[in-house]
Amino acid sequence: MEKIKMTTPLVEMDGDEMTRILWKMIKDELLLPFIDLNTEYYDLGLEHRNATDDKVTVESAEATKKYGVAVKCATITPNAARMTEYNLKEMWKSPNGTIRAILDGTVFRTPIIVKGIEPCVKNWKKPITIARHAYGDVYKATEMKVAGAGKAELVFTDENGKETRELIHEFKGAGVIQGQHNLNNSIESFARSCFTYALASKQDLWFATKDTISKKYDHTFKDVFNEIFEAEYADKFKETGIEYFYTLIDDAVARVMKSEGGYIWACKNYDGDVMSDMVSSAFGSLAMMTSVLVSPDGYYEYEAAHGTVQRHYYKHLKGEETSTNSVATIFAWTGALRKRGELDGNTALSEFADKLEQACIKTIEEGKMTKDLALITTNPNPAVLSSQDFIRAVRATLQEMV
Ligand code: NAP
Ligand code: MG
Repeated sequence: MEKIKMTTPLVEMDGDEMTRILWKMIKDELLLPFIDLNTEYYDLGLEHRNATDDKVTVESAEATKKYGVAVKCATITPNAARMTEYNLKEMWKSPNGTIRAILDGTVFRTPIIVKGIEPCVKNWKKPITIARHAYGDVYKATEMKVAGAGKAELVFTDENGKETRELIHEFKGAGVIQGQHNLNNSIESFARSCFTYALASKQDLWFATKDTISKKYDHTFKDVFNEIFEAEYADKFKETGIEYFYTLIDDAVARVMKSEGGYIWACKNYDGDVMSDMVSSAFGSLAMMTSVLVSPDGYYEYEAAHGTVQRHYYKHLKGEETSTNSVATIFAWTGALRKRGELDGNTALSEFADKLEQACIKTIEEGKMTKDLALITTNPNPAVLSSQDFIRAVRATLQEMV
């Protein structure tokens, strides 16, 4: 069989620990036999980040701006223990944080649905994708404990020294105060990333805040989304046959529970933090959750939502057999390859990505899966495979399909 050609390189960001092991297996078994893989390779493994003073992370993000699409393996975010383990020069920042800051993007997390791994919410038939605004609000708040009676005010001093004041509260006794902020720039980028991704994935976009109570703060989010939608996206949404839908956050939660899924739910920072844990655990497993960073300019970086699966890696190093789920990492590759195919008009590449995803799903639905899924499946008799054997089983399914 002739291998599929690629015209533009894909930015490949290698990573750490067990996911680095899976990365190589996926390439060897599922990609290289079928595709003339054209990637620009960046090694974001912690050793190489340390050796390059983390310049490799910045270069990989710059390359993503150049080519438009990247695929990333999970990476270690260093902490005190990692400083010793890897003898690091510095406690390098989270690569995801660095890349997100350069691309100014929003992360979209989507569960992978297979028969036999049923969502807790029985009417959810299609994935619900959560987009979380990643700046400000309570995560950048300033707080104060108030010991007793007194007056609290919000004070803004402009560049010329002119003050504007709003009373927060006349305290009669002890209490607490919190000051939050956000930036129009950041909200605008968030909105554009959400509209861009909704168009690219042909799904409705929902957004919700508490604008009836927060008439200036949350209302600004609602207004920014609305203005950008009307000015830049309304026509494209109509052509694509999708909808932008704004509602109150409590109404959104009620509708999400009763929906059948199949849309993107854009959330403010705190709502996204809380709701993404709810949605992902209700869908089943972190190992079945993909993640894509979308910039307001339409650059895409695909990855798995889980980490480097350290505990499995240490077993692997001891020569013990592991049963680590590679599905989210495979879907990071297929997401990136499909997008590359779309941008280059390379139908063969996009179709291969679809087939590889179907092969993963079919393999699991036939009862062949890794241990994490075997523990939660409704299939009464699953075959529990090792990391390597699962990938080989997907290869066998794929081979029948192509
Ligand atoms: P983790 O790698 O997500 O793993 C936590 C646990 O979840 C695992 O021990 C395993 O449970 C289960 N699990 C996760 N993914 C799995 C998979 N594919 N197959 C089977 N089981 C899976 O989180 P962590 O152990 O807290 O973090 C390890 C490293 O990852 C850290 O250094 C962290 O900085 C990094 N991290 C990176 C990213 C990223 O690059 N996007 C995200 C999160 C964390 P059992 O052990 O019970 O089997
Ligand atoms: Mg959280």
